Order: sequence, then structure tokens, then C-alpha cells
Amino acid sequence: MKKRLFTPGPTPVPENVMLRMAEPIIHHRNPEFVEILARVHKNLKYLFQTEQPVVVMSASGTGGMEATVSSLFSPGDKLISVNGGKFGERWTQLANTYTQNCVEIKVEWGTAVQPDQLLDTLKANPDTKGVLLTHSETSTGTATDIKTIANLIRENSDALICVDGITAVGAHEVRFDEWGLDACITGSQKGLMMPPGLALIALSERAIKAIEASTTPNFYFSLKKALKSHAKDDTPFTPAVSLVIGLDESLEMIKNEGIEQVWQRHERLASACRQGCDALGMKLFSNSPSYAVTPVWLPEGVDWSSFNKVLKFENGITVAAGQEEYKGKIFRISHLGFYDELDMLLVIGALEFTLKKIGFDFEPGVGVAAVQKAFLQS
Ligand SMILES: *Cc1c(COP(=O)(O)O)cnc(C)c1O
Repeated sequence: MKKRLFTPGPTPVPENVMLRMAEPIIHHRNPEFVEILARVHKNLKYLFQTEQPVVVMSASGTGGMEATVSSLFSPGDKLISVNGGKFGERWTQLANTYTQNCVEIKVEWGTAVQPDQLLDTLKANPDTKGVLLTHSETSTGTATDIKTIANLIRENSDALICVDGITAVGAHEVRFDEWGLDACITGSQKGLMMPPGLALIALSERAIKAIEASTTPNFYFSLKKALKSHAKDDTPFTPAVSLVIGLDESLEMIKNEGIEQVWQRHERLASACRQGCDALGMKLFSNSPSYAVTPVWLPEGVDWSSFNKVLKFENGITVAAGQEEYKGKIFRISHLGFYDELDMLLVIGALEFTLKKIGFDFEPGVGVAAVQKAFLQS
């Protein structure tokens, strides 16, 4: 049985990327590696649409979030954290760990923070030093309008805008410079079509100044050290050499497709996936859907473990379960990274097999037909 991954991290890795990573290891001080890292640094700027440095860190995405909070801010700095899911909650936890002065905006799961809500909080807290946002909240499959919100923050405050772009970069439009972001993070195992292990962090001029001034103790996760090495196309510690080489390949693929085309593909796949689910009578969870992952309510009366057993062991499909209070109630289909139109036909086809097997009645092919129509019309 072929196994197919439809989870929002790790995501499938293309064969050419795997082959590059299988090459004999090289030393990271070799000119050969320095040349690769320099190219990766350059192509990361294209990915984030920035002229600013994007540092490469050997860590999962959370390491990038921790480096950001511990490097940009000082103990006592007031941070506003928007928490609309597991990853927004993580921002709050990091703020509570490092600055211990966090104002949290709780947002209902499956909805995005409203610009007015953020503005009110910002006005009530004029001493705010940073705002922590999640562009695509993976636990709820919900996208936030970062462009509008960043603009609003810039007009009303000097707070640094820190964006968890971990399932947004390479899926949603992200324009780091144009939107005035200060820190934006992604991880290798998401839109970058790579195994886990690298965190990538774009940093503005303002962020770099804040890093110089920060008094928070840190060491391995110091962005000050990372920036100093970045300027010489180097890293402060041994980088994950094979992953950097793989990233060189996957960034090349993104460059060849074109970043706008990559964003449009994700929008197209997400829309078709939603239409396929809808045609099967499954209710969608988010009212502001992410282009990376589609969360769907399990149909009434369906037990998650028997549903997932058929999907996984008879169809070879791994999707992501619901988290926290939505465990057993929703599941999440990913279309982040290395996916195309036929993958969406396949995953909706597998859902049809699964629902039929557990006793649902519908006209076979209605979900797949909806996906086909979505693509033929777009
Ligand atoms: C995956 C993910 C993270 C980071 O998770 P790691 O397991 O540390 O890579 C953070 N935020 C979002 C939105 C994510 O999807």
C-alpha cells in the first residue's frame, strides 16, 4: 500500500530534495558549503519578499519563535499575544517565559482576530513593545489578515510586529518589507517541502536594533550571534548541513515555479478541497480558511478512531487529528507544500472510500466531481 501524507507538517518531501540530502556529507567551513549557504540566504529573501537578512537556525519552528522572543525583547517588556489556537497559545507561553508581561487576546477557535479588537487592545496598552501574531493558525486552519493588521499596528504604535508564518510562508501571500513586518518565522517541514529541523527567521532593521538593545539572556538561540554570522554567510554553530543542502534544492523549486504562482496554487488547492468536502456533506470548521490546511468537522455520529483506521490502514492516508477540545471532533487535511490538483482528487476520493466503508450514503464521485469542477472553472 502506498502511504500518503496529508498533514500540515511534516509535509511530503520531493525526490530531488531527498536525493540532494543523500549526497556524502561536506564540511560546513568548505567553500562549497559557504557557496550553498550564500545562495540559500539569497533565495530566502525572495521567499519572504525582503531585502533584509533571513537567518537559518537548526531547530524546529518553535526554536525560531523562542529565538525571536528572547532576542528582540527584554524582561518586563509588554507583549500582546493573539491566541486563537495551539500556536497562538505558544506565543503567549513564550512571552510569559521571557518578558513575563503578556496581554493576551483570546480568539475563538476557527475565527481570526478582528483588526478593531487588536486596535482597542493596543490603545489600552500604549507601552506595548511587541505584537505576536499567527498568520495561519494550523490547529484551526484559520488565516489572519496580516497585511491589514500590520498596517494598523504601524499607524498606531511602535510595537514590533512578530509573525508566526510557519504554515503561511510558501502558501499565503507574505510580503515582509512591503507589509512592515519585523520578524517572520517559518520551519523547514511546512511549506518548504523539507524534513523537520530548520527554522528560518526574517528580521527588519527595527528588529535588528531591538536585538542589539535586548538584555534577555540567551545563547544558542541568540539572534545577535546568528546575524553576525549571517553577514559572512556563516552560522555560529555547526548547521544541519544536509538540511541546508536540501533547502537549497527546495528553494530552487519555489523560485522556478515563482512565489506568486506558489501562493495561487495553494489558494486553488484549498478552495477545491473545501468544495470537495462540502459536496460530501461535511461541514467546514474555519470561517477564515487557511490555504495550508482545511479543518473539517467529522460527520455526526462518526467515531474518529474508526474513521481514521479506515483512512490510514485501508487507504494509506495520514491526515491530522483535531487538537484540544476538538480532538475527535474535527480532522485536518493538509495541502501545504508539495501538492498538486491530482493530490486533491486523491484525498477526496479516499474520503469517499472511507465514508462509504463506515456506512455513509451518498452518490459515489460527488466529492471528486466537485474538486474537478473547482479546477476546471479556475
Ligand atoms: C508547526 C508549527 C509551529 C512549530 O512547530 P514545531 O513543531 O516546533 O516545528 C509553530 N506554529 C505553527 C503555526 C505551526 O504550524
